[in-house]
Amino acid sequence: MINDAHCHFFSAAFFGALARQRGGDADSESLCRELQWDTPGTPEALADRWVRELDAHGVARSALIASVPGDEASVAAALARHPSRFVGLFMLDPSASDAPERARRALTDLGLRVMCLFPAMHHVALQDERTQRVVETAAAVPGAAVFVHCGVLSIAVRRRLHLPSRFDPRLGDPLAVSRLALAFPHLPFIIPHFGAGLFREALMAADACANVHLDTSSSNSWIRYTPGLTLDAVFEAALAVAGPSRLLFGTDSSFFPRGWQRAIYDEQRAIVERLEVSAADAALIFGGNFERLFSRST
Ligand SMILES: [Zn+2]
Repeated sequence: MINDAHCHFFSAAFFGALARQRGGDADSESLCRELQWDTPGTPEALADRWVRELDAHGVARSALIASVPGDEASVAAALARHPSRFVGLFMLDPSASDAPERARRALTDLGLRVMCLFPAMHHVALQDERTQRVVETAAAVPGAAVFVHCGVLSIAVRRRLHLPSRFDPRLGDPLAVSRLALAFPHLPFIIPHFGAGLFREALMAADACANVHLDTSSSNSWIRYTPGLTLDAVFEAALAVAGPSRLLFGTDSSFFPRGWQRAIYDEQRAIVERLEVSAADAALIFGGNFERLFSRST
């Protein structure tokens, strides 16, 4: 069974938010035309398209990330339509005055499961009281988890649309995640892309905290920052430190017509085979850990 722990739900509201950031007469449709991407249509239509895509690739369930703050409702609509196929995640800006209430509502009324923090983007440190408050909110909801983007943050759609991205990568530090994870030992934390360049720190966080998980998603092109590093070696070290039960396979798929990024799956499956990971451990990485974290009953 394959479950994908990292896909983005690029809804019409997502493109609408980018269009507002661009200004002028840009709208959701004109941005999609410029990108040569398909327009998403309603959240229900996009959810149906995702299900067809997952079916075509034999993927059982996937995470869907609401990828701008305030777009929780789009992912909630997808969940309502296909509750057995999707797990809802949402980007939250802890500097917003209503952030704790937004988080609470998303994790309870709307049925989403994972709050996603991007400290480098929102310029709110993980040590900041505002972060502490929203993490406390998540910790109070059974079955919730927190995703924290660390390391280098490069958002391809923003780059392609020439939108300013004044990120402060110093704020996305896995060691600061470890401090939070120790404070909330029953709350699962997910660090995507093996720490996106801060691999050593991500391993240190995973070693110190049994509730820190690493997602394997994206092309992991950050490995070029360490001369000679290969994705095989990354998997090997992550397996040695975090173990197979805390690695979550993901692709970082996002837009159509590209759809689900099968090449990422094929590459990671081949790595796991080359490393002679047992079938049971591989099953955890590619689906079992996702099932455990996002059981359907909670
Ligand atoms: Zn992503």
